[in-house]
Amino acid sequence: MTYVVVGAGPAGVVAAETLRKADPNTDVVLIGGEAEPPYSRMAIPYYLTGKVEEAGTYLRKTDGHYDTLGIQYRQGRVKSIDADAGKLNLEGGDTQDYDQLLIATGASPIKPPVEGLDLPGVHHCWTLEDARKIIELAHEGADVVLIGAGFIACIILESLVERGVNLTVVEMEDRMLPRMMDETGGDMIKRWCEKKGVNVRTGARVTKLEPRSSDGEDTLTVDIDNGDQLPAHLVVVAAGVKSNTGFLDSSAVEVKTGIVVDNHLRSSVSNIYAAGDCAEGPDFSTGGWMVHAIQPTATEHGRIAAMNMAGKPIEYQGSLIMNVLDTMGLVSVSYGAWQGVEGGDRAEVADEHGFRYLRLEFDGDVLVGCLSLGRTDHVGVLRGLIQSRRHLGEWKDHLMVDPHRFMEAYVDGSQ
Ligand SMILES: Cc1cc2nc3c(=O)[nH]c(=O)nc-3n(C[C@H](O)[C@H](O)[C@H](O)COP(=O)(O)OP(=O)(O)OC[C@H]3O[C@@H](n4cnc5c(N)ncnc54)[C@H](O)[C@@H]3O)c2cc1C
Repeated sequence: MTYVVVGAGPAGVVAAETLRKADPNTDVVLIGGEAEPPYSRMAIPYYLTGKVEEAGTYLRKTDGHYDTLGIQYRQGRVKSIDADAGKLNLEGGDTQDYDQLLIATGASPIKPPVEGLDLPGVHHCWTLEDARKIIELAHEGADVVLIGAGFIACIILESLVERGVNLTVVEMEDRMLPRMMDETGGDMIKRWCEKKGVNVRTGARVTKLEPRSSDGEDTLTVDIDNGDQLPAHLVVVAAGVKSNTGFLDSSAVEVKTGIVVDNHLRSSVSNIYAAGDCAEGPDFSTGGWMVHAIQPTATEHGRIAAMNMAGKPIEYQGSLIMNVLDTMGLVSVSYGAWQGVEGGDRAEVADEHGFRYLRLEFDGDVLVGCLSLGRTDHVGVLRGLIQSRRHLGEWKDHLMVDPHRFMEAYVDGSQ
């Protein structure tokens, strides 16, 4: 039996290790598409600020980790698949046979259709290679424009500020974190960033980038749709991601937003599974299918897909939307169905000046989602309440009056 895992991010690495443990007398091959040993994108912000060296981003830090486990690590990129023959075609002409295949190829950043995004000085912040280029250009006092103010953009934002750059964020939606925060929360984060010296433009679109030369330096001019022009030594594009599924184009593997998988993370082809940012998997809150491009979902997918591949069936309960951000000291959290459900109830309390906000969403007497800003204590309890789908009974009424009492509700119900 040969198990092959394509993609050596968190989903692929956890899957390869799980396969090795669950089915010891087999071949496990892990194919990584980047030059570096398997690493965590989540650690890139720490690399940008010098808190860790490049090796500090590696997922496994012991020399020879994969060899010791008996996992064959192959560096290469898969170009296409012959699912009938159980064969992968790699760039450069090599092939790899498999009996069971896990696709864990992650996602790639989207480049919006804006003129000038191919100019030198414009980078995504997705790979270690991107991070090296950003470090070169994001020196103290440099003018930097960050396109996008979503989850990944806000993570990078903090690192750029720590590097001492003069930062402008341009977001076309009406608020920061439009897919993670409502207007109240998004506006609070915007005011917080502005207080810390970041220039934030929401409801603004970058229309064009042009090269310019000033004081012997090659820089850029960034045009905004209101006519403003921003100087930039560096432009970082963080405008969303798309699952990496191109090499499946002529195969029978069904792809929508990502690779469509069932509750066992199996694709439409019976010996092919998918995990992580490339998989459109079960969603805990809606019972539907979604790509949740976050690391906890990737590792959970990897583990469960591997167990199922190894003939130890586990039904996946679905991933919970779970975004936690620390934006220069302001912690924001969104869990589950934070936008609410039809016929549900909402309780919210905001302290605009104190940068504190809590919004709870109920379906009947069950907490199904929440937003929280400005608190670090007990937010895990909110997640626990959502994931346990606990009926809160009269505590629902108390929380409608004072949402801050969620810890009491949790403790009371645990007795
Ligand atoms: C800067 C940054 C900060 C982040 N911070 C957080 C955070 O705080 N919290 C959080 O939950 N998430 C965070 N994320 C998102 C998180 O990193 C991803 O959700 C996670 O990496 C997904 O894991 P994955 O294994 O599915 O994909 P990836 O980590 O993207 O790994 C996929 C691997 O597959 C390889 N590959 C792709 N195509 C091929 C091919 N054809 N052949 C061979 N190999 C291929 C890729 O090169 C890559 O190595 C962050 C992302 C970035 C960029």
